[in-house]
Amino acid sequence: MARFSRRTIIKGGLASAFFAIGAKIGIGSIIEKLTPGINIARTSRRLRNGIPTTCSNCPAECGIYGFTDYGRLVKIEGFDGNPNNMGKTCSKGEAGLDMLYDEERVLTPLKRVGARGEGKWESISWKEAIEEITYRLKELKMKEMPEQLVFECEASLTTELIVKRFMNAFGSPNAITHSKYGNENKIVAQRLTWGEDFEVPDVENSKYILLFGSNPYESHTFFINLAKRIASARTENYAKLVTIDVRMTQTSGKSDEWYPIRPGTDAFVALAICNVIMREGIADIEFIENHTNVTPKMLSEHLKYYTPEMAEQISGIYVADIVRVAREFATFKPSVAISGGGITKHKNGVYSERCITLLNAITGNIDTKGGYCIPRRFALQDPVPLPNEPIADSNIYYSKNDSVLEHASRAEIIDAVKSRRQKVGVYISYEYNPVYSSPDSEDTAKLFKDEDIIPFFVAIDSYMTETAALADIILPSATYLERRELFSPPSFSMVPFVSFSQPIIEPLGKSKSIYNIIKEISKKIDPNIKKYFKMSEDNFLQASISHISELSDAGGIYYLMGHGYWFDTKMNQSLYKLFERKGFNTPSGKFEIYSERLREEGHDPMPVYVPMEEFSMKNRNAFVLVPFKTNVHTADRTANSLLLSEILHNNPLWINAGIAREYGLQDDDKVEISSKLGRIETKVRITQGIHPNVVAIATNCGHWQFGHIAQAKSFESNNAKTSHVWWEDEGNGIHINKIIPASIDVIGGGRDGWIP
Ligand code: SF4
Repeated sequence: MARFSRRTIIKGGLASAFFAIGAKIGIGSIIEKLTPGINIARTSRRLRNGIPTTCSNCPAECGIYGFTDYGRLVKIEGFDGNPNNMGKTCSKGEAGLDMLYDEERVLTPLKRVGARGEGKWESISWKEAIEEITYRLKELKMKEMPEQLVFECEASLTTELIVKRFMNAFGSPNAITHSKYGNENKIVAQRLTWGEDFEVPDVENSKYILLFGSNPYESHTFFINLAKRIASARTENYAKLVTIDVRMTQTSGKSDEWYPIRPGTDAFVALAICNVIMREGIADIEFIENHTNVTPKMLSEHLKYYTPEMAEQISGIYVADIVRVAREFATFKPSVAISGGGITKHKNGVYSERCITLLNAITGNIDTKGGYCIPRRFALQDPVPLPNEPIADSNIYYSKNDSVLEHASRAEIIDAVKSRRQKVGVYISYEYNPVYSSPDSEDTAKLFKDEDIIPFFVAIDSYMTETAALADIILPSATYLERRELFSPPSFSMVPFVSFSQPIIEPLGKSKSIYNIIKEISKKIDPNIKKYFKMSEDNFLQASISHISELSDAGGIYYLMGHGYWFDTKMNQSLYKLFERKGFNTPSGKFEIYSERLREEGHDPMPVYVPMEEFSMKNRNAFVLVPFKTNVHTADRTANSLLLSEILHNNPLWINAGIAREYGLQDDDKVEISSKLGRIETKVRITQGIHPNVVAIATNCGHWQFGHIAQAKSFESNNAKTSHVWWEDEGNGIHINKIIPASIDVIGGGRDGWIP
C-alpha cells in the first residue's frame, strides 16, 4: 500500500490542527482548500488523507487523490502535485468511484456454457481458467504456430511493455497495442514530418491559438491539461482563440471567432493560410532555410495553387477571414495551430495533419515557448532477461512497408483476421472493446462470434463489454484504482516526469492486474517463458525505471508511492528548441516538409489537399455525419457509470436549423439515418451551431451489453440508486458505428470515419 511522504504527513498535521476549530465552525472546505490531499468527512468529521495516484480513464493521465474511509474509496479529486493537471479533473475522473464499485463488474473468472454470445456463464477458479488457456497456448507452441496468438489492447506505457514482453517470449509478432484514441493517421503524419507521435501545444504561453476541428474544452488526448492552459492563456496572456469546426462545440462557443467549415476541407484552408504568410513575407525564413528540407522558393511555388479565393470556394470560409487569420497567426507570436482527431480520421487524414503542422513550421513556432513543442517524456526499459524478438512473421500488415506505424492499426487487424490473412488460434483482448468501437460493428461482432475464424477467445476485462460477451473465457482485471502502473505523459512544463498509479484499495473479488495475470499464464506454459515473469510486479516496475538514475536513487516506485510523481529538479524548465542541438528524429534530421518516404511509396511528398469525393454533396438529401465525443463519457469505459449516464444517456442527431425548416422538422422529431450498411432511427436536435452540410451525433450511447445502466435499465442491487434509473423511458440512444462503413486510410492505416 501507499507510503506517505513527509509533505503529506505535515499536511495531515496541519489539517488536524485546523480541524478542531474548523469542525466546530463548519469550515471544513476551507481547510481542504488550504491543505490539498486532505478531506474531512462531512458527517463523521473524520480526517482522510489522500493517496496520490493516476487516473487512466483517458489518455490525459491526470494525477488524482483517492480518499478512503474504513477501507472503501469514498472520493476522488485532482492531485495538485501532478505537473500536467495541477489538481484539476473532469467528471469522468471523479466517476472512477462509480466504475470501481460497479454492481455488475466481472469479479471472477467466467467460462461460457452456452453458444458464443448467448450470455450463459459459469464461474470458475483462476486455476481452471489458466489451465484452459495454457492448454490452447501450448498447442500453438507444439504445432510451431506461435504467430497464431493475437493479443490486442489499448495500451499505456506499462501495459505495452508487459504485453510485448509476453508476446516476444511466446514468439508471436502479433501484439497489437493501440494508442487509446485510434490516432493512427495523425501519428503517421507526425512521424513522417518531424519524427514525433504527438505535439505538445505550449498554449499557456501562446498569444494566438488556432484550432482545426479540435475541441479541447470537451475532448482531447490531453483534455484537462490542455483546456486548463488555454483558459489561463485567454485570461493571463489575452491570447486569441480561433476555431475552425463544422460544429459549435464548447470550445467554438468560447472562442473569439468560430468558422463553420465545409467538412473535409481543413487542409485547403491551412495551405491557403500558409500561402498568404509566404507571399506577404511574414514567414520565418530562417527556420525554413535552416531546419526544414525545402527552400522558401520551393515552398512558395508549391503553395501558389492554394489561394484564399480557391479556399473560399472549397471551404466556405471568406477570403477576408483567411487573409486576416494568416496575418494574425504569423505576427501574434508565439502562436500554435492544433488539429482535432476528427480531421485525421479520413482518407485524407495524413495529409490534413501535415498541412496543419506546416503552419506551425513556416511561422517558426516549432518547439518554442508558446508554440508547437516536441513531447518530453521518459521511456520504460524492458528489464533483463530480455526475450528475443519473434522470428515468425505477422500477416496482419498489408505489407511491411505500407505504414510507418510500428504496429497494425485497429482497422488492419480486423481486416486481416476476417479475411484469414492472419490465422488465429487464440485471441486475447485486454480492456479493449472492438465490437462496440469499430466501424461496421455488426460485422465485427460476427467475426468474434465465428469459431472457425477465432477458435478460442479470452477477454481480460473488468466489465461485460460487447466484446467480452463474445468470449470463451473472461478473466477479471483490476481497475486502475486497484493496480500499479507507471506513466510518463508528455510534459506541459517541458520537463519530463514519471507518474504512478497504485491500489487505493486491494483488487475487488478475484480481479488481478495484467502483470499478475500474464505471470500466472507464463508459469504454466513453459519454463522458457516463465523466466521472464519471475519477478514480482513491484520488482518488475522498479527495474523498468532503473535507467532513470535520479529516480532510482530517490527510491524508484517507493518514492512514487509517497509522492505520486517525480521529475528531475536539475533540469532546465526553459529549455526549448531541442532540435537546434539534436536535429529532428527524421531520416534527414530536418523538419521534413518534403517526405521522401511518401514519394517512394507513390504518394505526393509535399503537404497537399486531397478532396473527399464522398463529401461533394451531389445529392441534396445527403449529409456528412460527424460522430463526436462529449466531455461526459470516454470512448466506452464509462458506459455503466450511474453518475455519468444520468448526465448523458442518449444522443439526438444535431441538424442545422435552416435545413430542419426545409424539411419541416421540429426538435425531438424522429428521423432515419441511412448509409450503405443500413438504417437507424433517432430523434433530432435542431441548432444553429452546425454547418448545413453536416449532421452530428455523440458517441458512447446505444450499448447492448456492459450492464443495465449502459442500457438505461433499472435493476435491483446493493446500491439503491440502480433501481431508480429515471431516464429509462428516454432510452440509451443509438450506436452509430452500426452504420458507419469500415475503410482504411492506406497511408496511415487508420480508420476512415466518413459516412455517405
Ligand atoms: S481528463 Fe478526466 S478522465 Fe482523463 S485522465 Fe484526467 S481526470 Fe481522468
